Amino acid sequence: MSRPVPAHGTYARYQRDCRCGLCAEARREYARSYRHSAPAGETRRHIARLQEAGLELKAIARLSGISERQVNSIAHGKHRRVWETTEGAICGVPLDALSANYRVPREASDRMLDLIVRVMTRGDVAAAFKYRRPWLSFTAKRAGHVNSLTWLRLCFIARSLAARGLLPADEVEKAIGS
Ligand SMILES: [Zn+2]
Repeated sequence: MSRPVPAHGTYARYQRDCRCGLCAEARREYARSYRHSAPAGETRRHIARLQEAGLELKAIARLSGISERQVNSIAHGKHRRVWETTEGAICGVPLDALSANYRVPREASDRMLDLIVRVMTRGDVAAAFKYRRPWLSFTAKRAGHVNSLTWLRLCFIARSLAARGLLPADEVEKAIGS
């Protein structure tokens, strides 16, 4: 007994070898909308390499734009497959990300600092940065960017303040995502 033939203009009909215009369009639509997944192994191995290079999961999350929770669960082998976009984002983080001179727009770091100084003095932030003087040298520069390490440190400080309930977590995550 043969299955009923799907209507024209459906991907199912295209799969049944119809190449008419409607089915070809359905195939294009399918390709556009379909999110492809890949085995998680390569992503997991790249996370391990990044960790060996000194990057914490938090930093990998920040640099890839993938949530820390997800990076963490991939790292612990909880996913057999990941979206290709996730794989691309994580595998795209270079092993020298910490030493590389990543640049983050100054407006983003200023926004983050504005959040942090609601609950910490600038002197305390400088101390957290292990600066010897109680002022933040990166804010003195007229540059339109700060380097990745400065940005990551600001994110860590803001997140730890949020974790202690001192800053609204949603505002911190919004500032990190911007
Ligand atoms: Zn057709």
